[in-house]
Amino acid sequence: MTDTLAAGPLTSEAADAFRERCRDFLAAHATGGARRDLAAAREFQAALSEAGLAGLAYPTEFGGAGLTLEHERIYRQVAQEFPAMTSELVISHGMCLPVLNEFGTDDQKRRFMPDNIAARTIWCQMFSEPGAGSDVASLQTKAERDGDEWILNGQKVWTTLAHESDYGVIIARTDPEQTKHAGISMFIIDLRSPGVEIRPIHQIDGGRHFNEVFFSDARIPADHLLGEFNNGWRQATAMLMYERVAIGSMGAGSISQPMYDLLLKAARANGSVDDPVVRDQLMEIYCMETTKSLVAMRTRAELKAGKAPGPGGSLGKLAGSVIAWRFREIAMEIAGAGTQAWEPDDAAAAMMQQQVVGSFSSGIAGGTDEIQRNIIGDRVLGLPRDIAVDRNVPFKDLQVGTVRS
Ligand SMILES: Cc1cc2nc3c(=O)[nH]c(=O)nc-3n(C[C@H](O)[C@H](O)[C@H](O)COP(=O)(O)OP(=O)(O)OC[C@H]3O[C@@H](n4cnc5c(N)ncnc54)[C@H](O)[C@@H]3O)c2cc1C
Repeated sequence: MTDTLAAGPLTSEAADAFRERCRDFLAAHATGGARRDLAAAREFQAALSEAGLAGLAYPTEFGGAGLTLEHERIYRQVAQEFPAMTSELVISHGMCLPVLNEFGTDDQKRRFMPDNIAARTIWCQMFSEPGAGSDVASLQTKAERDGDEWILNGQKVWTTLAHESDYGVIIARTDPEQTKHAGISMFIIDLRSPGVEIRPIHQIDGGRHFNEVFFSDARIPADHLLGEFNNGWRQATAMLMYERVAIGSMGAGSISQPMYDLLLKAARANGSVDDPVVRDQLMEIYCMETTKSLVAMRTRAELKAGKAPGPGGSLGKLAGSVIAWRFREIAMEIAGAGTQAWEPDDAAAAMMQQQVVGSFSSGIAGGTDEIQRNIIGDRVLGLPRDIAVDRNVPFKDLQVGTVRS
């Protein structure tokens, strides 16, 4: 490794050298085809780690490259010139890794971060439950202390990649005497433990990406408590903010318009590219994506300046969803039935279909559009908050989620 932990801003020579190093690596390894293939993403990540380019801004002691957020920005920027290789690792790296880094003990960081960074282990996020999605603080899965262990009972749902994961970052109720936001703790759970049952959910696009997960007396070692006991809500909120930044500013190294590119290809393919209405629609998506890129770059710049991700991350997440919905409408006008049915060997049409069908989930996953608007309203714009009648009531006295009187 030629770069060491930079004490100050990178010189332009060092930045250029690092950019070239990233470009060389990506030209050799980012060969495409891995968008929805976890095995290929893991292979790529292993090579990235071998080359000293994985976990760029994390300390070497914890498996990172010990470089700076500026190095990370340069890598992201160069990576945008190549096919996306690590989309499947967004939960492991965009959500679980920063939470491990922020709340883990040094012992936990040494134990779990190197394998996470190199994708030798895969991690998932276990928050949502039947009846506790938008209002995730209503969760009923409980963890009770028994000697050196916690005993976990309950159910999670929509757990992306649980069936491929080694570990989950899970939140569970640890004190029902406290109010619903207070008595929650966060744990690292080994998903191969006895008492953990993972059932895949089949999707409309033929995929099996997420799962229901049931816990029946599953045991978690006491030293897998992540962060402070009963402080899980604050940590979960931090993880959700990392999630919104990860989703909303994916590839935020520079300005890009991937949805516009797809639509332009479709319009050229069917000869509608000269139609003034189509051109108007193409420009609409182009402008929306350009604006989203700029918002994402601002969010990343704030992170680089040492700011923890705040509620502003919701803006990028919401923008992605609004664009996905508008993209679907325009794609269906341009490509018609081609967005729903296509020849098996037509990769471009399959990509379009994936985006069209997948657009429905973009306004739900990571918090719904309504919830992002609420966050922006009350925490960014300072508008009055929603009325909450259950804030000061002990959880055990509430009727939440699947509880029936
Ligand atoms: C593709 C995908 C992947 C996911 N992956 C994961 C994962 O890995 N881990 C995980 O824990 N969860 C995951 N989820 C779950 C996701 O976080 C929840 O689906 C989401 O938070 C919404 O919760 P819900 O489905 O229970 O809907 P509900 O909360 O029941 O919402 C139903 C409707 O009511 C609206 N609503 C609810 N409350 C309010 C309010 N206060 N104001 C205005 N409107 C409101 C919502 O916007 C929505 O339209 C995933 C979901 C999807 C679609």
